[in-house]
Amino acid sequence: MEEIKSKILLIYTGGTIGMEVNSNDGSLMPLSLENLVKHIPELSRLECALSTYSFLNPVDSSEADFEFWNDIAKVIEINYDLFDGFVILHGTDTMAYTASALSMMLENLTKPIVITGSQLPMGMLRTDGRENLISSIEIASLKDDKGSLILQEVAIYFEYSLYRGNRCHKFSTEHFDAIISPNYPPLAEAGVNINWNYGALQRKLDDEKLAIHYEWDDTISVIKFFPGLKTAQLEYALNQPEVKVFILETFGSGNIPMRNDLVDLIKGKVDEGKCFINVSQCRKGNVDQKTYASGLKLSKIGVLSAEDMTFEAVVVKVMHLLGKKLSAEGFAREFQIDYAGELSM
Ligand code: ASP
Repeated sequence: MEEIKSKILLIYTGGTIGMEVNSNDGSLMPLSLENLVKHIPELSRLECALSTYSFLNPVDSSEADFEFWNDIAKVIEINYDLFDGFVILHGTDTMAYTASALSMMLENLTKPIVITGSQLPMGMLRTDGRENLISSIEIASLKDDKGSLILQEVAIYFEYSLYRGNRCHKFSTEHFDAIISPNYPPLAEAGVNINWNYGALQRKLDDEKLAIHYEWDDTISVIKFFPGLKTAQLEYALNQPEVKVFILETFGSGNIPMRNDLVDLIKGKVDEGKCFINVSQCRKGNVDQKTYASGLKLSKIGVLSAEDMTFEAVVVKVMHLLGKKLSAEGFAREFQIDYAGELSM
């Protein structure tokens, strides 16, 4: 019996992978999908039926916002029943945010969404884009012995590794392995074969229909602590009446200086109904508001711990939950549960 080929939709949103040098000023500018695909004749030899969709105006991913995430989700929604899997070409700068966003927007996802890009444009001789793209398509099309798609979540493929998308962070502007997943193991490694880490893959137990959540609220602010931050500086940063949630980027396992004036300032805002999240400046490990006196103090005044979520996942999750217009208690409860594999429980 002839094996049915997987149908994959390649969605091009922009990023270095599809850029070319602008002859006027030497800067990198996004290229059309047709021109990009011309650089990879190998695509026609892939064991899947490949279709393409390009954004009208491919962008550098630093332009991304929730409307951009919604645009990508819309393409997936329209094509969800027509394809087995999706590969998204995207800039690396905010790839981890988009991956986190799609993972939270697409409830009951049971198909592969692989996001990839490159450090060098496709037209360059030493580009990493060719391997990233070809392996991403292969990964998205792979089925197990029973004919089920192996990957059923949002992932990022980069430099021979497949990661859970909402666990990722871009950590290098120059190395080909630019993406890391500090708190969750790779879902697969690509060598001679694709070696799956089956135990790390996400599986939905019920067969609910895909539901896409397009509602966001970005009235948030991020405050990064540094040695010597003055009370007046914190006061200034907190003086944003429209902001509902402040994300504090703290030291180590979630610590800030023990000065009463700093803590009192935060407590005052909590009493006014503002929410605070404690996320560490460390990429690996988790916030622990129980070990040190300073973390404990924050916990006591109602600051929520981001635990081992990435900064990217936290920003997206907060905007996503605010979009649900929950009560303060509802927000706190939902923030602390695992939505899409972004948090170790
Ligand atoms: N600035 C580019 C982007 O994020 C960088 C890249 O694609 O690697 O769109």
